[in-house]
Amino acid sequence: MSQIAFSTLKMHPNLLKNLTSLGYETMTPIQAQSLPDILAGKDVIAQGKTGSGKTAAFGLGLLEKLDVKNLHVQSLVLCPTRELADQVAKEIRKLARTLSNIKVLTLCGGIPFRPQANSLEYGAHIIVGTPGRIEDHLNKETLKLNHLRTLVLDEADRMLEMGFQSEIDAIIDQAPKQRQTLLLSATFPDQIKSIAKRIMIKPVMAQVASTHDNTTISQHFYKVSDNEQRMTALRLLLLQHRPESTVIFCNTKKETQEVANELVEHGFSALALNGDLEQRDRDQTLVRFANKSTSILVATDVAARGLDIDALDAVINFHIAQDPEVHVHRIGRTGRAGSKGIACSLFSDKEHYKMTVLGDYLEKSIESEPLPARSVLEEPAMKPLMATLQIGGGKKQKVRPGDILGALTGENGIAGKQVGKIHISDNWAYVAVNRDIVKIALKKLTEGTLKGRTFRVRLMWDWPT
Ligand code: AMP
Repeated sequence: MSQIAFSTLKMHPNLLKNLTSLGYETMTPIQAQSLPDILAGKDVIAQGKTGSGKTAAFGLGLLEKLDVKNLHVQSLVLCPTRELADQVAKEIRKLARTLSNIKVLTLCGGIPFRPQANSLEYGAHIIVGTPGRIEDHLNKETLKLNHLRTLVLDEADRMLEMGFQSEIDAIIDQAPKQRQTLLLSATFPDQIKSIAKRIMIKPVMAQVASTHDNTTISQHFYKVSDNEQRMTALRLLLLQHRPESTVIFCNTKKETQEVANELVEHGFSALALNGDLEQRDRDQTLVRFANKSTSILVATDVAARGLDIDALDAVINFHIAQDPEVHVHRIGRTGRAGSKGIACSLFSDKEHYKMTVLGDYLEKSIESEPLPARSVLEEPAMKPLMATLQIGGGKKQKVRPGDILGALTGENGIAGKQVGKIHISDNWAYVAVNRDIVKIALKKLTEGTLKGRTFRVRLMWDWPT
């Protein structure tokens, strides 16, 4: 495919300059297909999944239209989950860094309302948030949309799947009729088509082929006879490929926990990610997976939304997805950005119908491959490279990444390269350190001080020692 440079677009020179400094030279397919229309002010429906560059597509559009001097809310981005909202806000801030003083505020549920309302009083250009909380702010009149120019529905299919239809309708009711509406969705069920019809004016469709580049994702299918064999097959595949980061998809919440427990019993480092988790546990799980101290995440489709891991080595479908589009979306999470990824799917006779539908959708006949030899089960489970230390202080205690890095690498400390990702939340901080030096790191943090204080530090270990 021909590569089109951003410089061919009519955009604010500061935005263009920033793209070059971010290393964004040419447009991704979704950007090439949608940005010209977005910049022209049209309503656009774009098929975009995480990793396609969709955030920059709408982000650049709304930034280009922004009147910086006007501190009323001019753009609203609705997202299904808090993780996605955080990511979107981060990307928009990155894109906006050469424009002066753009205020991007996230408004999501699960966190206190009052501080959000206080921030809103100071004004904001762009709001990114989840539908429930945005509706709450509209109802309490802490947020007003009368200056809104651009409304974005990101991952619209997932928002509807999660039951946000009525909140979205209520929000749109309060938005000015004269506005630009952008809708991003990985799939296009009828519900999306009908919502698009109601809320958009002559939308342009930007569609990028939904099947993924076969050169980077290798797909394999394995037939199993029952659930016991399914579990063994899963272990065989993990032990054979030994991926550093894997997401296993299950169709139910209960199954995610069962599979994760069983994997841990067999010495793997695995955590379940499902809608039953408390927000804090969910955040911790995502942090531990992203920083490579947990190698396997066992998730439902809904819970895995918003998961943004650049290098997912493997995706395993413990059960075939109900819908072929969901299958394609699942496996698209591996092999991103040109890196090689493997996608394995387990199915039984009972799933015969789903397999036929999937085969038709992929336009190929699906052949079952033989599983690795049972002797592979003798191999020890792979261990993650890193381990997470949880520190009992976060943003509210003014703990910053530099403080943690300083405490770890200070006098007689460990080497900086043995420290992985640092994540700071409101009341906690998490730092990944190389597994081999975890004891020294723990000692450094417990005995040393951060901001002149000692904090409780705990090792988050998720496999049997
Ligand atoms: P998204 O699909 O919006 O989650 O974006 C995936 C990643 O691709 C983000 O980390 C962006 O920073 C990056 N990205 C977006 N557009 C481009 C581009 N044109 N060139 C290079 N990287 C990009």
